[in-house]
Amino acid sequence: MPVIFKCTKCGTIIYKFMRAGQDYYGIPSPSELMIRIGSTCPNCGKILNRNIELEHIVINLRR
Ligand SMILES: [Zn+2]
Repeated sequence: MPVIFKCTKCGTIIYKFMRAGQDYYGIPSPSELMIRIGSTCPNCGKILNRNIELEHIVINLRR
């Protein structure tokens, strides 16, 4: 199921994980995401603190 991480300030989607097998790492934890994408929002420059500054959205797809 898709997992989306959004900046809590401007709502920019920082990272989308659409399906298993998208990349080697699988669904990253917020702290892993910080390492991979850096620690600031690419849109508004907000400094993202791990675990609390990203909106973690899991979308359940109906079949
Ligand atoms: Zn932002």
